[in-house]
Amino acid sequence: MKKEIVFATNNEHKLQEVARILGDEFRVLSLADIGCNDDIAETAPTLEGNALIKARFVYEKYGKNCFSDDTGLEVEALHGAPGVYSARYAGEEKNPEANMNKLLAELQGETNRHAHFRTVIALMIDNEEHLFEGEVRGSILEEKRGNEGFGYDPIFCPEGYDRSFAELSADEKNSISHRARAVEKMCRFLKEMKK
Ligand code: IMP
Repeated sequence: MKKEIVFATNNEHKLQEVARILGDEFRVLSLADIGCNDDIAETAPTLEGNALIKARFVYEKYGKNCFSDDTGLEVEALHGAPGVYSARYAGEEKNPEANMNKLLAELQGETNRHAHFRTVIALMIDNEEHLFEGEVRGSILEEKRGNEGFGYDPIFCPEGYDRSFAELSADEKNSISHRARAVEKMCRFLKEMKK
């Protein structure tokens, strides 16, 4: 029988991506699937902290094995900003266009454009906590390019590519993305556990 595991998200795109990787062995449930409507405040100053807040909340309140993710774009010339504040860099409206405009303005005239996306996954399973990390290195472009994806995709060019994330197909992006790498690490761990 398939083991159930909750992904502490209601983002359909993320759920499908993860369910595809976890294959037939796990049944992945969303927050909606377990009747969780709580607004879980992400108040920690680190990606690790926020991922743990969400996973622990679900594990403790619903008693179900659970994982959650948190991602940030870390820009070298800005000493790691926007980092854990990536979603609300330009304000609480969490507007991607405003976030990108702010980042481009901050980097105006800056020659060091190195940046990376970093995802941390916190997994709570059988009374244990585990963390997994995935990263993709790249650089911040001078202007927005492409229409795919979301968030900062139009201004992020992954290393080894001459296109932004927003100019890659979903499959191409998923094959190298920070989130996919973290998810794959967790999947390897879960599959080992099941043996
Ligand atoms: P979350 O933790 O997945 O909600 O990500 C926080 C923020 O990081 C998002 O609101 C986006 O601004 C940004 N972000 C996360 N993943 C990506 C991505 O794959 N491409 C572009 N931006 C992303």
